[in-house]
Amino acid sequence: KQMTGNEIRDLFIEFFKEKDHMVEPSAPLVPIDDDSLLWINSGVATLKKYFDGRIIPDNPRIVNAQKSIRTNDIENVGFTARHHTFFEMLGNFSIGDYFKKESITLAWEFLTSENWMGFDESLLYITIHPEDTDAFNIWREDIGLSEDRIIRIEGNFWDIGEGPCGPNSEIFYDRGPDYEYDAPDEEMYPGGENERYLEIWNLVFSEFNHNSDGTYTPLPKKNIDTGMGLERIASIVQNVPTNFDTDLFMPLLQKIEEVSGKNYGENDQQDAAFKVISDHVRTVSFAVADGALPSNEGRGYVLRRLLRRAVRFSKELGVKDAFMFSLVDTVADIMKGFYPNVEEKSDFIKEVVRKEEERFLSTLDEGIRIYESIKASVKDTTGVITGEEAFKLYDTYGFPYELTKEYAENDGLRVDDEGFREEMKKQRERARSARKAGESMQVQSETLSNFTEPSTFTGYESMHEEAELLL
Ligand code: ATP
Ligand code: MG
Ligand code: MG
Ligand code: MG
Repeated sequence: KQMTGNEIRDLFIEFFKEKDHMVEPSAPLVPIDDDSLLWINSGVATLKKYFDGRIIPDNPRIVNAQKSIRTNDIENVGFTARHHTFFEMLGNFSIGDYFKKESITLAWEFLTSENWMGFDESLLYITIHPEDTDAFNIWREDIGLSEDRIIRIEGNFWDIGEGPCGPNSEIFYDRGPDYEYDAPDEEMYPGGENERYLEIWNLVFSEFNHNSDGTYTPLPKKNIDTGMGLERIASIVQNVPTNFDTDLFMPLLQKIEEVSGKNYGENDQQDAAFKVISDHVRTVSFAVADGALPSNEGRGYVLRRLLRRAVRFSKELGVKDAFMFSLVDTVADIMKGFYPNVEEKSDFIKEVVRKEEERFLSTLDEGIRIYESIKASVKDTTGVITGEEAFKLYDTYGFPYELTKEYAENDGLRVDDEGFREEMKKQRERARSARKAGESMQVQSETLSNFTEPSTFTGYESMHEEAELLL
């Protein structure tokens, strides 16, 4: 069945409506009343209020299509067929209503029934937790799958510390031997994975409480939380090699062809640039529409980093001027049926994106001038750009370290990697002690310092450092 991305989203919601689910609207990407997350990163993230009992939903059966941002996948984007930084998760949820058997039966019916997706059953594979005999029996007996298509994986257990947790079961689609990479090239595919078996749907059976003393007890009311990637389903339905070749992305790729004068599909390296740019402009457009803005910290820093990364990749396509802003209308156009707010705010989004791009481009110009003078001084002598020099380019002129390396390589120069890392480390230590000094002055106002520096941000600092290296 040939269906557009929009039709698939509608069909999913329609199916679960028919099964008495209530539709929960796609929530903004910026979490509301939740400091534990930088971005909404899954369907369940916006439904915590129901899962933890703060709010009793009108109907314990819920369906949604939730826009999500995941920065942990950034290095995969453009290089795997299936990862985005912004994507849509289709999900059905049960708050103490149905459990394992019904959630498995529903997922299977949606995927395989001729009235719905109509996927060929023989192409679906299942993973379960090794000790989840209930799940095994349901897939084996009720659904009737042969044993060799049910794979036991130790990692299939959802546990994020204290709170509800439980085993999960995932559904994979066999895309066929053409998708088998003989020797996954770690450089080219940082995931280093074989994408023949495409993960499409995750069913989480939350049945235990992870107690503060580390023990697990059964939950009085068991919940279901599922998530399926819309773009991945679209790639299967439309029988195209990657998510980017679906109608959810093609108009964007065409627009990039227009702007750059390069063709998508000519070579892998260029295609990666097409993919990264189209991915990142979606993320930034939606995030700005939902109230985030580029800046030097938190969410804003993620946006800044995504835009800069896209601009860097645009060099691969020979693009010189600001152009990302000119893709925003296409994002709005593709998505307006379900997400009208991108179109409504498109003038503002374009302005934000254009300013940020121009700012970065002038940073780059300045950096290149400095680089050239360093090059002139070492070219015929050591042939090495020292750690201090690379660090100064990066720290004082905002010139991405990766670019210094690329330029140096082109010019037959070496960069002292270790020296650069040493300088980074020193700077981190300086920042740390500066922060400590600040903290000790703030002890009397604990509430204030808690407010400005939420404790949940501890993991973020290291992400920030890594992210800077990436730029
Ligand atoms: P993968 O192993 O492919 O990275 P995941 O196991 O991290 O996926 P889940 O956390 O289980 O993903 O999310 C549920 C579903 O959401 C996935 O099965 C997939 O269909 C979709 N999904 C997850 N991450 C992404 C992403 N970065 N881009 C597009 N779709 C995604
Ligand atoms: Mg993942
Ligand atoms: Mg996975
Ligand atoms: Mg998964």
